[in-house]
Amino acid sequence: MSPAPAYDVVVAGGGPAGCAAALTLVRAGRRVLLADAGTGPPKVGEALVPVGRLLLADLGVDRQVLGTGHLPCHGNLSAWGSSALHEVDFLRDPHGHGWHLDRPLFDRRLRAAARTAGAEVAERTAVRRPDRQPDGTWRVPLRHRTDRDGERTVRCRWLVDATGRGAALAVRAGARRRTGDRLTARHLLLDPAPDGTADGRSLVESDRDGWWYTALLPSRQRLVAYFTDPDLPLAADRGAEGFRDRLLATRHVSHRARPHGLTALRPPRRAPAHTAHLDRVHGDGWTAVGDAAAAFDPLSSQGILTALYTGLSAGEAVDAQLHGDRLALAGYAEKVATARSAYRDGHRAVHAQESRWADRPFWARRHGTHHAKKGTDAP
Ligand SMILES: Cc1cc2nc3c(=O)[nH]c(=O)nc-3n(C[C@H](O)[C@H](O)[C@H](O)COP(=O)(O)OP(=O)(O)OC[C@H]3O[C@@H](n4cnc5c(N)ncnc54)[C@H](O)[C@@H]3O)c2cc1C
Repeated sequence: MSPAPAYDVVVAGGGPAGCAAALTLVRAGRRVLLADAGTGPPKVGEALVPVGRLLLADLGVDRQVLGTGHLPCHGNLSAWGSSALHEVDFLRDPHGHGWHLDRPLFDRRLRAAARTAGAEVAERTAVRRPDRQPDGTWRVPLRHRTDRDGERTVRCRWLVDATGRGAALAVRAGARRRTGDRLTARHLLLDPAPDGTADGRSLVESDRDGWWYTALLPSRQRLVAYFTDPDLPLAADRGAEGFRDRLLATRHVSHRARPHGLTALRPPRRAPAHTAHLDRVHGDGWTAVGDAAAAFDPLSSQGILTALYTGLSAGEAVDAQLHGDRLALAGYAEKVATARSAYRDGHRAVHAQESRWADRPFWARRHGTHHAKKGTDAP
């Protein structure tokens, strides 16, 4: 008989979803290894909605994670459906204000909280190709990014895929990824404005081929992002000039960006921002959480929240499953389906409010009046 696995659960991915799952499992008394590859460019998602504080409090880490270093956000502005600016003020939100996060700091603090709670946290460590063993356990190869001798293999009873949009482990285990659209972000950080004055509210502004987003970060840099489809004009343009011209043509985003200086812009970076989900969020010995399970259009501002929620819910369900409750993961799958359905309704309703460019492909696709391309389905 082989010895008992060293871990009950290996969580692959140390973003908000993986950390929420690890925290929940370790608090339930499970032996957890949380491995985070830490690869790829820095993440751009930084707006945390006010209710996010509640989930962090449920995880027992709100003070630790939301302490100094982030900016409070007291409201959102939008020019959507008309060029007039509307404000949603968080003053009336029962959960208080939201945040513009220092995103690397936020993720780092979540991993530190998981470590303090008792999880083993392996930074810069990728989970490679796990193998299901005849005895029902997993052999999980791990590779440390910078340490040449840093390869080891561990065994566990359950795997949590928190690897983000790629859902690498779930797909390897046979799940299928469904994409609802092809939304792409082009984003850029502008240097702090010399006079230091800035509006801390976030701003969304639609245009004929997509929409703009801007927010001030705790570093006082300004994030500017344009969301469009990859076959539309600006998405294909890799340079800074087209981006700047289009930015300057906006009414409200340009007003906020100008004080940061727009003369010597770097070329914007690109990031996938499409709606996607897995056809199943759990299988034989594995569960997917966060973007790996269901990734949303950033317009919803629900990504981090959903990652925390699915991580926490999956942690509870996996613990129950390991206790022998065979219905727990079906319950988790239902929660993900409900979250997706609420997102889908909201997504349709919000895009229906913008009718100024109904004949342009970006909007026609989202109004359902444009033929979907092969390989895509509804969000
Ligand atoms: C342009 C853009 C803007 C966004 N803006 C917002 C916003 O303002 N507000 C908001 O709430 N959401 C926003 N989002 C969405 C939000 O960033 C995500 O929903 C959120 O990060 C998902 O968290 P996660 O933990 O599921 O995945 P991630 O945060 O992507 O974390 C996955 C982690 O897994 C690690 N990893 C990958 N493969 C492996 C492996 N094999 N082994 C170990 N580790 C691995 C990665 O290094 C990474 O740290 C935005 C997204 C985009 C694309």
